[in-house]
This record gives sequence, structure tokens and C-alpha cells, in this order.
Amino acid sequence: MSRATIMVDDRLGEYLDFINRPETAAQRKLRDETGMMPNAGMQIGPNQGSFMAFLIKLLGVERALEIGTFTGYSALTVASALPEGGTMVCCDVSAEWTAKGRAAWTEAGIGDRIDLRIGPAAETLDQLIADGEAGTFDFAFIDADKDNYDRYYEQCLILVRKGGLIAIDNVLWSGGVADPSDQDRLTVMIRALNEKLRDDPRVDFCLVPIGDGLSLARPR
Ligand code: CA
Repeated sequence: MSRATIMVDDRLGEYLDFINRPETAAQRKLRDETGMMPNAGMQIGPNQGSFMAFLIKLLGVERALEIGTFTGYSALTVASALPEGGTMVCCDVSAEWTAKGRAAWTEAGIGDRIDLRIGPAAETLDQLIADGEAGTFDFAFIDADKDNYDRYYEQCLILVRKGGLIAIDNVLWSGGVADPSDQDRLTVMIRALNEKLRDDPRVDFCLVPIGDGLSLARPR
């Protein structure tokens, strides 16, 4: 018996993609299209997508929030897992990247579930709070510029209801968080955020080693 989490090599990763809920045709098409872009690594893997879709259903999420939409794969995944009448607000700064997503969402028949807001996410989230949307979201996925992660987390704590879920991506930072010699600015920032969440009495917290690390925080 080992206390270590199994190392997921390419072969095991392919098995996870095979054994978990398979991608829909729309997801596969969007993944393939995004795969040709230079920033393709910014989209979540199919295995993480399956896990997030499972969480959406497990929690009975009806209203979701996404900070950092890129070409729309995670939004497609989350919105497709919502029940009929479910809605999602997506924040991104790039009209170009999200245009790809918008086309894929429409093609998949879930375009009307997604309210895309182009602009700095911190401003969009402040606007949602000002509009009286505090506590109205069941789920938030934070996967945008790491510099603002702490701010997004604080804003999501206002917007997500108690007993909902805030998921934060890339929190293992390719393993950098566990390497004391790595004092890169963003590594230090993510390491500090992970410890803040662990010690935050406002949430229940668990960091799941899926993809590049996914923090789960449940507002109390
Ligand atoms: Ca990510």
C-alpha cells in the first residue's frame, strides 16, 4: 500500500479517457479544432471534463459561472450537464477565442444556456454582485489569469451559495507548488492560495490531483 497518488502516464491517461464518460461529438470536434491552436494546452482534458460534468449533476447545479472560457470546451461540458432551464455566465477577455466556443455551443444546442460576457472578469463579477446576484450561483469554475486568482476566489465566495462549489484549475502548477526551489511569482502565488483555502474557515476544501490540479472549495 502506498500513500502516493498514482502517476498518470500517457497510457493510463488514455485509459481514463476511455473508461470515463466518452466525449460527445461536439466536444471532440471542439477539442480537435482547439488542438491546432498554439494555446491548446489551456483547455481541460476529457477526463477532467467528465469529472466536472459529474460534479454538476451530483450537486444539481442549475446556475453556473465560469471565469476564463478560452475556446469554450469546459463551458460546453458544464452547460451540457445542466438540467433543462439551467444557465451559465462565462467570462473571458477574448472575443476571438470565445467565438469558437459560441459556434460550438450553438451547434451542440446549448447556446441559449450561456451568457458570455467579454471583458475583464473581475469587473464582470463586480457587476454581477452589484446586480444583486450574490448567492445565486451553485457552481463556479476559475481558470483564467493566475494573477487574479485570489480576487476571483473572493468574488466567487460572494456569488456562489452556501453548499455550492468553487473549482479552481491548475493549482498543482505542473508540480511547481511542491518544489521549494521554485520561487517563480505565479508559483508562489498559487502555493499561497492553496494554503489560504486549506486554512479558510469559510469553506470546506479538497485539492484533487486531476489534470493540473483542481481545488474544490465548498462555501459553508
Ligand atoms: Ca486550466
